[in-house]
Amino acid sequence: MSDAVDDANATQAYFDELQISKVRQAAKRLDAVATGYCLLCDREIEKSGQRWCNAECRDDWEKLKKRGLL
Ligand SMILES: [Zn+2]
Repeated sequence: MSDAVDDANATQAYFDELQISKVRQAAKRLDAVATGYCLLCDREIEKSGQRWCNAECRDDWEKLKKRGLL
């Protein structure tokens, strides 16, 4: 009987973990939201939905993000 309880707990823990990682991923996406301005250099972007003015800014931004500087 205790095995069934352990299994239930393990399953619950697995789903909790899954939910947490989903929320984390959503949070990551949220802080890289398109604002109409380049997220790195603040230059105005004409194309809507674009987050950086060019690939260079995007790459630099991603580097800074990975180092935790943003
Ligand atoms: Zn830029």
